[in-house]
Amino acid sequence: MPTIGVLALQGDVREHARSLEAAGARAVAVRRPAELDAVDALIVPGGESTTMWKLADAFEMLEPLRAHIKGGMPTYGSCAGMIMLADRIEGGIDGQQTIGGIDMVVRRNAFGRQIDSFEASLDFAGRGPLRAVFIRAPWVESVGPDVEVLGVAEPGDRIVAVRQGPLLATSFHPELTGDARVHSYFVEMVREL
Ligand code: GLN
Repeated sequence: MPTIGVLALQGDVREHARSLEAAGARAVAVRRPAELDAVDALIVPGGESTTMWKLADAFEMLEPLRAHIKGGMPTYGSCAGMIMLADRIEGGIDGQQTIGGIDMVVRRNAFGRQIDSFEASLDFAGRGPLRAVFIRAPWVESVGPDVEVLGVAEPGDRIVAVRQGPLLATSFHPELTGDARVHSYFVEMVREL
């Protein structure tokens, strides 16, 4: 059974841990570089990307995270986690940094503010329709040639799920709906890689 860390600086860590366990993985919280060294893969949860970036910087986790991702660690980011995995962002605060890894431009708060949070049904990676929850969600503005689009959402057929090699990102929060299919897809990735 793979051991998958959930970056526990900020965000909905517990929900991801529950979904990972439902998908057949062992979940552990990761806050320190040594804890990162000890896991097979990582989830960067939903939350607030500006806060997560500042905490990652303060905990001296940014460089270790970048190094692990460069080294091929399978990593999945949901919502704020998607922003953290983007090589480039739009709508960030001044100086906002990401971990990076996926060759894409992600627009923060693209679907609107909290009040515009919504649910949509979408096809994820050809695995049938699933209910997706969007909360002040980003969308993917553009992707590089090595990025596979795994899901789009109304309104506007926006890209909301992508994969580049061992890296997976969704604009929505599968950890909040009790449907473990996205986590199962990620656990399969971890087993195959
Ligand atoms: N809008 C948040 C951000 O910029 C993301 C929201 C979320 O993770 N639900 O980080």
